[in-house]
This record gives sequence, C-alpha cells and structure tokens, in this order.
Amino acid sequence: MSIASILQEIFGYASFRGPQQDIISHVVAGGDALVLMPTGGGKSLCYQIPAIARKEAGLGITVVVSPLIALMHDQVAALHEAGVSAAFLNSTLSSDEAYATEQRLLRGEITLLYAAPERVTTPRFLAQLDALFERGQLALFAIDEAHCVSQWGHDFRPEYRALTVLHERYAGVPRMALTATADALTRADIVERLQLEAAAQFVSSFDRPNIRYTIVEKKDASTQLLRFIEREHPGEAGVVYCQSRKRVEEIATMLAQTGIQALPYHAGLDFKVRQANQNQFLRSEGVVMVATIAFGMGIDKPDVRFVAHLDMPKNIEGYYQETGRAGRDGMAADAWMCYGLQDVVNQRRMIDESPAAEDFKQVMRGKLDALLGLAEATDCRRVRLLRYFGEESHDCHNCDNCLQPPEVWDATDAARKLLSTVYRLQQSSGVSFGAGHTMDIVRGKRTEKVVQRGHETVSTFGLGADYSESQLRAVMRQLIAVGALQVFTSEGFSTLHLTEASRAVLRGDVPVQLRESTHQRPEKRSRSRTAPAPVAANLGQDAMVRFINLKSWRSEVAKAHNLPAYVIFHDATLAAIAERAPRSLADLQNISGLGTRKLEAYGEAVLAVITGASEALAVAQAA
Ligand code: ADP
Ligand code: ZN
Repeated sequence: MSIASILQEIFGYASFRGPQQDIISHVVAGGDALVLMPTGGGKSLCYQIPAIARKEAGLGITVVVSPLIALMHDQVAALHEAGVSAAFLNSTLSSDEAYATEQRLLRGEITLLYAAPERVTTPRFLAQLDALFERGQLALFAIDEAHCVSQWGHDFRPEYRALTVLHERYAGVPRMALTATADALTRADIVERLQLEAAAQFVSSFDRPNIRYTIVEKKDASTQLLRFIEREHPGEAGVVYCQSRKRVEEIATMLAQTGIQALPYHAGLDFKVRQANQNQFLRSEGVVMVATIAFGMGIDKPDVRFVAHLDMPKNIEGYYQETGRAGRDGMAADAWMCYGLQDVVNQRRMIDESPAAEDFKQVMRGKLDALLGLAEATDCRRVRLLRYFGEESHDCHNCDNCLQPPEVWDATDAARKLLSTVYRLQQSSGVSFGAGHTMDIVRGKRTEKVVQRGHETVSTFGLGADYSESQLRAVMRQLIAVGALQVFTSEGFSTLHLTEASRAVLRGDVPVQLRESTHQRPEKRSRSRTAPAPVAANLGQDAMVRFINLKSWRSEVAKAHNLPAYVIFHDATLAAIAERAPRSLADLQNISGLGTRKLEAYGEAVLAVITGASEALAVAQAA
C-alpha cells in the first residue's frame, strides 16, 4: 500500500498534515530523522505509517520507545481499533503476558512494539533484538519524547542516554527521534546524545493557533480560577497545574465543593488512586484534573478544553509543553495562567538552593527570565512564545494582549523609590532585606521590624505613601522580571539586590512602563475568528440529536472495551456522521477518522443509531 492509502484506509484521513508526508516518505525510504512538532501536530502517524509500510515490505518490526505507560496503552488500543498489530512491553504486564508478547515478536506477528527506555536496554530485550536484526527484521526505531535525553529539557530521564546502544548495535536500522520541545539547546543536545548528526531535521511551526493565551495577575488565585472555569468552561475537561501536593489537594477540594467534577493527581497519592483518577479523566467527560507536573506527559486526550497554571512553571519549554495539552483536536482551547510576586521569588529560590553547579543555575535563571518576560509582556504573547522557539510571527488576535491591549502606567518614579531604598538599606546596614520590608519602608509603614531596625530614618521612608501595596508589588515583580532587581535566597530568606541594570533605572535614564495592575478584564469574551468553534456548534437541531445519540452509543462501546471514548471515535468524526445522516454503509465512506477497519467493526451499529434517532424524531414530531 502507498503511504497515502495507508493514511486513508487504515486511519481514515484524507490528507497529510503539515510536513507529515515528507517525514514519512523519508523514513519509509530508510532515512534517519529528527522530528520537531508541537503537541497535537500529529507525530504518531510519522512513525506509525512508516512502521506499517516497512512491515509490508518485509522489513520487520518497529520499536517505539516511549516513557509513559498510559500513552502506550492507549496508542496500542487505538492501533488495534484501526486493525494494526501492535503491543507493548512494560511493568504492567505479568511475566506470562510479557513472555507471550516476546514470542509474538520473534514470530514476526507484531508491526509496532511500544517499550519503555529502561526495558529496551535490558540484556534480555537486546538479545531478542539481536535475533530479529540477524534476520533483517528490525525495521525502525522511533524514539518518542526525545527531549528526555537532555538535561536542558524539562523532563530529563537518564535511561534515555543508554539508547545510543541502538545505533551502535544495530547499524543501518533507521532511527527517528520525535519531540514537541525544541529550544535550540535541547535540540542540539538530542542530536549529540542520540548521535543523530546525519539525520534529516524536520521542524514544524510551533504555533498552536487554536490555543488562546491569557496571563493574569494573581490576587486570590482560587477564586480567579473558579470564575475562569465557571465563565469559560463549565462542564468541560481541563487540567489545573499547581506547584505543591498540598495545593493540589486544596484546589481539588475547593472545586469539587462548588460542584465541578475535579480530581487530584500528584506523586504523593497512592498508585491505585492516581491510576483511578487518571482513568476517570480520560474516560469520563468534563473532568477537571488538578495536578502537579507529575501529570500529563503522554496523556493524549484530544478534547482538553483548558490548561490552567495556578503557579508559574520553571521555564517557557515547560509552560508550552503543559499548555500544549489543551486542544489537541484543533478546536478552541484556553491556556490560562495567574502569577504574582511570590511565584517569581519561589522559582528563584528553587534555582538558588538547588545543589546544581553554578553554570547550570545560570542557564536555569536565563530560562526563568524568559518566562517572566512573557508574563510581563504588554504585546502579543504568541509572538514572544514563537520567537523563543526561533520563529517570527505577527500579532495573533487570539491572546489576552491582542484581544485587549493592556493599559500601561509610568512607574519610573515608584521603581526609583524602591531601588534607592534597596540601595540605602544595603549602604547603611550592610545587610539586604526582602520585598515586604522594603515596600513597608517606601510606603512609610511603622511595622515592628521597621521600628526595631530604626528604618524610619532611611531617607526614602514614606516617599511612596501614595502607592498602593499592590502597585508596588507589581513594580517589584516587574523589576525582578526585567533583571533590574535580583532576588537571592539562603536558608529560607529571600533578599533583594541591585544589578547592573538597576543603575539606569535609578538615574532615571530608562523609563519604566508597566502593565496597569488593577486592570479589569471584560466579563465575557468573544471567540476569535481564527479559532474554530466547538465541534458540534454548527450542527442543526436534527443533527444534534443524532450527535448526542452517537455519543451515548460510543460511551457504551468504550465502556465495554474498557477504552477512552476518543479511541473509538473522536467527537469530530461523530459530528461529521451526524451531519451526513447516512442511510447505508456507502454513505459512511470518506468520513475523516473512519478507516476501513472501523467501518467494518462499527458501520452497522452507527447506522442503527442514526435510524433509531430519526425514528425517535419522527415520533416526537408526530406527537
Ligand atoms: P502529537 O503526538 O504530535 O501530539 P498526535 O499524533 O496525538 O499528536 O495527533 C494529534 C491528533 O491529530 C490525533 O487525534 C490524530 O489522530 C490527529 N491527526 C494526525 N494526523 C492527522 C491527519 N493527517 N489528518 C487528520 N487528523 C490527524
Ligand atoms: Zn497575540
């Protein structure tokens, strides 16, 4: 079969997306490849189609290295649904099951084998690969989530380093590495660590046009979150990221109390509970998962409608990877973050107090600064995000700053007062103080500490009495964000220090223009013209009835097969069927997402649902 007919007949898609065709042709022909594509871009097909084509050509099996068990399970299930022979080897299998899979592997019955990196490099598994290799039955190695090999990526896994054995031991077997993380440093590291110097590089645009970016100032984070969900995403699936386990628990409880189906997920929970919560998130509709970053990698649920950050991530790569889990189906989705001064201080502290080497910390600080720059930006967020990944673009009309340009105020005076207070404190007492104390002095507050230390006599005392605390807090945060003020932490205390960049601000040479911190967002947003509406929004009344019936049928099938509903059919496929109102199997031809195998397996049942729905309608209309 040609790659186009594999796409059409097995996966049910009419055309390749972006660079898929070039990548697939290159790999089918035996080339090595490095594939950089954003989440939701369609990486899986880039190795699944070559695997099928090379198996057909008698070249044997494809080994897919993937770090996450949930992903393996769902991908294998989805391949089975499409009629492709696939299996996985990981710690969830009993030894009998693993043995049976190994036997099938050696008999050449498997097209795609998914395995965890630590499994791939065991002597036992390598011995099996040796046997296949000798018979010319190793078609391809696909290394998914390849950024895990890099310590500069956000999810370093040392096991990935051992994967060089594949290339050394099985010379001539094509290899491809795939990732959605691609700042220049990580990319170079992947090439070097996995020895892909000779591989063709395929870099897609990293833009996710259907995701709307919004970053708000943190006031009362949990209330802000609740409002956001109630207003923008009632009843929809989403992920809320928090920094600590404790916070995850609190937020999940708070949301659940207001009637939102929210579940917690963090590494401190019992394995069984975590597993159950994850399954519920994948299998039920409209669940909000409140989680630490332990959750999400390898979760390819397509209809996550929002990703919210209640605390700031470490860097833009992390932020982009996490927000990228929203809207994989291409429909409108939100990336919403709220952040404040404490986030900046906390992230700094984590870097300062980590046991890493100084040059490593320096890189981490640079990455944090880039994220702060994004958070404080008054111009298009997407332009900044994409520029970080080396891509130039124009105002997107689908981020908060584009949709409602923030007002700015001249904070030069406030900034100078803060900086000169830091300077004077340092001069007079030789010690540095934290943000709270410094602001108290500027605002002229006679706190116990101020009085005790005699800081009423600092010459800037009370000079900023006109500023509100939240204004000064914003100034402080933004001075830190632009590097005109530095935070150092030791033994749990954070102190402020001037930098090279402080001087120019102090002298008044550099005006400080800040976002208006009290800026109110509009109550209700309008959907952007560029972002597609939800899947079913355009269905007429009758089609909507069919769509709802199809969904409830799908949920029964999914339950019976113990699979997430989207593995059976995506919402978009059901919507297309509902719209077409098919009367025969022939009417079901060429619906996106409906391959030959699925047509055989489910075609009749789908027709029965449609007929049932129209009969019910007729009865209702007659009544
Ligand atoms: P990634 O791994 O890059 O995040 P996936 O491989 O999970 O992305 O693909 C995202 C979604 O896009 C999946 O639901 C997949 O079925 C769909 N998809 C991929 N390629 C195509 C295509 N050529 N036409 C239609 N849908 C596609
Ligand atoms: Zn924009």
